[in-house]
Amino acid sequence: MAEKVLRKADSFYAVYERKPGADKTTTHYCPGCGHGILHKLLAEALDDFNLRDRAIMISPVGCSVFAYYYFRTGNIQCAHGRAPAVATGIKRVYPHSIVISYQGDGDLAAIGTAEIIHAANRGEQISVFFVNNAIYGMTGGQMAPTTLIGQKTTTSPYGRKASNEGFPLRVCELLSTLEAPVYIERVALTDAKHIAQARRAVRKALQVQAEGKGFSLVEVLSACPSGWKMAPTQAIRWIQEQMMNYFPLGVYRDKTGEAEATPLGPRQFVREDLAKLLEIPAGPSVAAEAVVLPAERYRNPRLKVAGFGGQGILLLGLVLAEVGMRAGYNVSWIPSYGPEMRGGTANCHVNLSTARIGSPVVSVPTVLIAMNLPSLDRFEPEVQAGGLVIYDSSLIDRTVQRSDVEVLPLPATKMADELGNTRVANMVALGAYIGFTGILSKEQVLATLPEAIKRKELLAINEKAVAAGFQYAQGFRKRN
Ligand code: SF4
Repeated sequence: MAEKVLRKADSFYAVYERKPGADKTTTHYCPGCGHGILHKLLAEALDDFNLRDRAIMISPVGCSVFAYYYFRTGNIQCAHGRAPAVATGIKRVYPHSIVISYQGDGDLAAIGTAEIIHAANRGEQISVFFVNNAIYGMTGGQMAPTTLIGQKTTTSPYGRKASNEGFPLRVCELLSTLEAPVYIERVALTDAKHIAQARRAVRKALQVQAEGKGFSLVEVLSACPSGWKMAPTQAIRWIQEQMMNYFPLGVYRDKTGEAEATPLGPRQFVREDLAKLLEIPAGPSVAAEAVVLPAERYRNPRLKVAGFGGQGILLLGLVLAEVGMRAGYNVSWIPSYGPEMRGGTANCHVNLSTARIGSPVVSVPTVLIAMNLPSLDRFEPEVQAGGLVIYDSSLIDRTVQRSDVEVLPLPATKMADELGNTRVANMVALGAYIGFTGILSKEQVLATLPEAIKRKELLAINEKAVAAGFQYAQGFRKRN
């Protein structure tokens, strides 16, 4: 008798190495959230149709923004609401790819309304999965275009009123007035029967694309127990009793029988074409010869800079990237916003490299600058063995636990106070980092500061802060 083996889909990573923190086996979704179920349905379909190697998942802003932690496919993150536009570009350049636009309701039905309507109207050959949980989940439960009449959210505390906020938007009904879409269905993740229907819809949407038939969208009514302030079981009942009334389940368009399959064209660009188009030189990076290199272990740093909002964390990273760029490095800087309702810190990722930078995302930093305790708690485990941790010892009352990293305790806030302005602690930290590692010179930083500091009356104190941090780190190095 055939044995049925239950296991995780291959389209998921076996271990979620990209996910920050020590727990690499569970997802970041709240208990009872529908995202996990939909992820499973998608991953299993990609496995079963042998599409994983061709799949490119596009996740814009929302709780699913971290889909790349889990899906072993191509992954692209894009600006809020812009997934259908990015999907359009990817699909047209790589017609053989299976492009998945995975969007929430705040993303697709508010910020990206124009994007989805026009992508659907053009009949782009993409599959869109639209998670409708009637709220902005990630950012703290604000009213979404799909919020029901009377539903209380943080921005509609007395309940949504049609007279004030209009009516909830029905996306499937709206898009099914267009000519081009091939397949549109609304499903719900509530009980076994409905999840089985959702499974069929997910598979059909992928099949439509794999057969080159055109645009498909599956709207998924999904629980957000955290945003709704409900227990998971109560949230499921609320979908059944409230959401399904306003958002009827069913197939809104199915032209799969009559739609003609478009033969998949050849790949239109190869890497060299793109390099030529974007005027990226072939050969090795020119930056390697241009910069003065520090000791081997400090070269090509991947930094994570983290702290409270208001500590100038993003500015610290920006100045560092700007100085690095002027010094001849390839650089990248991106701010990173965590899921705010679950206590994110302000942090940014910075790369300074003599080679080209593949991704601006720093998931395993070689340098952590932690300006408050939550940042040290959260990011210390991520630092690469042999890396460097600089922390503000005037605000953090514990030492670094790791024994396999270098540590520079820096009383940055105290030093900034002594200079006369707490807010220059960020520049103390910047000075200390370059003073400790030698990656850039103090003069290079001071030459760039006048352009980075907008309020000219604060320039002198920022310069002093850089110099003080620099001197402190060099003194620390001599003493230890
Ligand atoms: S906030 Fe809502 S949508 Fe986001 S992970 Fe939690 S339950 Fe899911």
